[in-house]
Amino acid sequence: MTTQNTDVSVPALTALSEDETLFRDSVYEFADREIRPLVREMDDHAKISRQLIDKLFDLGVMGIEIPDAFGGGNATFFHAVLAVEALSRVDPSLGVVVDVQNTLVINAVLRWGTDDQKRTWLPKLASNTIGAYALSEAGSGSDAFAMATRATERDGDWLLSGRKLWITNGNEADLFIVFANASPDAGYRGITAFLVNRGCAGFTVGKKEDKLGIRASSTCELLFDDCPVPRANVLGDVGKGYKVAIETLNEGRIGIGAQMIGIAQGALDHAIAYTKERKQFGKPIAEFQAVRHQIARAATDVAAARLLTYNAARLRDAGQPFLTEAAMCKIFSSEVAERVTSLAVNLFGGNGFVKEYPVEKLFRDAKIGQIYEGTSNLQLDTIAKQLLGGS
Ligand SMILES: Cc1cc2nc3c(=O)[nH]c(=O)nc-3n(C[C@H](O)[C@H](O)[C@H](O)COP(=O)(O)OP(=O)(O)OC[C@H]3O[C@@H](n4cnc5c(N)ncnc54)[C@H](O)[C@@H]3O)c2cc1C
Repeated sequence: MTTQNTDVSVPALTALSEDETLFRDSVYEFADREIRPLVREMDDHAKISRQLIDKLFDLGVMGIEIPDAFGGGNATFFHAVLAVEALSRVDPSLGVVVDVQNTLVINAVLRWGTDDQKRTWLPKLASNTIGAYALSEAGSGSDAFAMATRATERDGDWLLSGRKLWITNGNEADLFIVFANASPDAGYRGITAFLVNRGCAGFTVGKKEDKLGIRASSTCELLFDDCPVPRANVLGDVGKGYKVAIETLNEGRIGIGAQMIGIAQGALDHAIAYTKERKQFGKPIAEFQAVRHQIARAATDVAAARLLTYNAARLRDAGQPFLTEAAMCKIFSSEVAERVTSLAVNLFGGNGFVKEYPVEKLFRDAKIGQIYEGTSNLQLDTIAKQLLGGS
């Protein structure tokens, strides 16, 4: 016997509240109107214009979870996920700027900042200051806690020395959360997070990477040579930076899931429009069953990725465990983004391979989802550890 669920108060798993729908739609409309015309140029020049970033501040997507007392949007992590998805549907480079700002930098300051640090930084982050999150180094990517950057105590304050690599927003940021080991003998228990201003003595932003995808988003080397950081700028406790890193990255990777569903949806939108328009053998290619099935499968993939991502974000906002779900959403969404963008290139035929059309860029942009904020192998390790135990 089957029982029917007649409880209409249980909505669809991806249902949005009225406020969430309005928010997502307003971000997408902005992206469509203001960003879309600039996508090609920003990709070619590997640069986002400052005016566009200022508009992101005006739109309210650079301080989504910041309480209104500090001038922020007073919204949820889920709203940040919606914003990253909506922007990435048009340009994933803008998606990652907003992602790092909200899900890593602001998230860390909200969670670990002292009252003074919040008073100093949150109003700036909500209004005009871009943040960056500096963990990785040339010798420590997946093995992030093997970092070589050191923090040495001097008269109660700190001197940072070392070199960070691949830091998103490096070119534009004025606030950097920098991880350094203050006590190498203690291993990862020496890792400490510091709030560092651009312009701090001994701190320079080095080379900017020339990348395959998300080219407009800056990815930079940071150099620290006895950079003095006051003790008041330690974020969280000395020796607890590993906790700051693990916990913010666990959440941040849900944002990458959102970036990837945005990319996949963007590619699907283009593929649907193009296949209805392009004629071969006397009819639109969307009328060939093989093409219809490919599009149907891609839409199914995107819907499944969205379910995983929204579910992880909802769990996070509800204060429930979400570690496994976050890892699953990132690995799955990034694979979906790769598959769907690749299909879109195929369905555009020769036009899929040239820069005049939008899908080759999305195909290039999708690749990063399997690399940053923990590679796919590391996500699988996280999931397997929950299922099987072990390290
Ligand atoms: C565009 C871009 C933006 C970035 N932004 C930031 C940023 O803002 N802040 C920041 O701190 N970092 C950032 N990164 C760095 C990024 O997080 C690292 O590149 C990533 O964590 C992988 O580290 P790695 O490059 O050293 O690769 P490696 O760790 O050397 O990995 C290489 C390969 O080995 C595999 N591997 C490694 N260890 C294991 C293992 N134990 N088991 C199985 N397989 C393993 C990996 O899965 C991968 O396939 C960015 C990188 C890029 C490319």
